[in-house]
Amino acid sequence: MDFDNINRTELAQLGEFGLIKHLTQHIKLTHQSTIKGVGDDAAVINNANLQTVISTDMLVEGVHFDLTYVPLKHLGFKSVAVNLSDIYAMNAEPKQILVSIAISNRFSLEALEELYAGMLLACNKYNIDLVGGDTTTNQSGLVISITAIGTAKFDDIVYRNGAKESNLLCVSGDLGGAYMGLQILEREKTIFKDNPKIQPDLSGKDYILERQLKPEPRKDIIDVLKKLAIKPTAMIDISDGLSSEILHICTQSEVGVELYEEKIPIDQLTFDTAREFNLDPTLCALSGGEDYELLFTIDIGDYEKIKNVKEFTIIGHITNKAKGCNMVAKAGTVHELKAQGWNAMQNKA
Ligand code: ADP
Ligand code: MG
Repeated sequence: MDFDNINRTELAQLGEFGLIKHLTQHIKLTHQSTIKGVGDDAAVINNANLQTVISTDMLVEGVHFDLTYVPLKHLGFKSVAVNLSDIYAMNAEPKQILVSIAISNRFSLEALEELYAGMLLACNKYNIDLVGGDTTTNQSGLVISITAIGTAKFDDIVYRNGAKESNLLCVSGDLGGAYMGLQILEREKTIFKDNPKIQPDLSGKDYILERQLKPEPRKDIIDVLKKLAIKPTAMIDISDGLSSEILHICTQSEVGVELYEEKIPIDQLTFDTAREFNLDPTLCALSGGEDYELLFTIDIGDYEKIKNVKEFTIIGHITNKAKGCNMVAKAGTVHELKAQGWNAMQNKA
């Protein structure tokens, strides 16, 4: 992307400290537990008698994002969102983040302002204090590393290893949309490269583009579960695709699973777009990734509490380990679940 727009302030004009000061000047701290934010050698947090839950994620230009079609503000929002998703997946409440960036002089101050505007938008929406980070230079691409810190009561934390035989397997929202959004963006990029005069055609694809560009971590699901007094036995967020995440739960819990293809929630636009690309919609849900929905198992005794909840779907149940990890296809045939990444999927397409 070309950042040589009308207002371009070179980073060299500010220097490292000037830049940090500029980017962090509008930060507001809201959590009582945040004792010290940006400005000293380290941030200080007081979690009193709560457990501290920490996670970190790194996003690398050219590997995790492509600035030819990802607006920096969206990238900022998404980089925070994916970190918060990991904390919610522990059934914990994220409260603070640290943001580290490696940048080259290719980026202007205005470009970084956009990135931070997106990050602060996510912080505002999910009530997060940005309490520090690190700023360094880099030869070429942009690197963003975010650490999220949250809290939970000892007994509330949900790990991947607690699923038990006969538990119900549930998933929030719908799957495969983020992957199809990416396919649309990649297609339009290729067309644009071949003929820059052709404007990208993204019409009618809003939902899946948003799923790719602006994922929302499912704080609302954590709230719903709390309200229903349900503590999942195991939980994970879906960053790599449904099958890979199911296998993580099964491996760590030492159980098997029966997943029903017909139950996997897929949005109509995702379904139609997959067909347009000659892809199997189920495969997009199983292997697509980046949906950032929550996958969890609950005790069968909780069924009555959830049967009318619209925010999530029961897609299968946990079995004995000896039965293996399988999907019952719409046709009734049984298939072993495999952790296929994006590459495997491309080959199948
Ligand atoms: P040090 O040299 O001691 O590591 P820095 O100059 O890197 O200190 O950082 C000064 C303060 O600014 C610290 O509070 C740090 O957390 C914060 N900070 C540095 N870079 C960023 C950034 N990119 N975003 C938010 N805060 C930052
Ligand atoms: Mg530093």
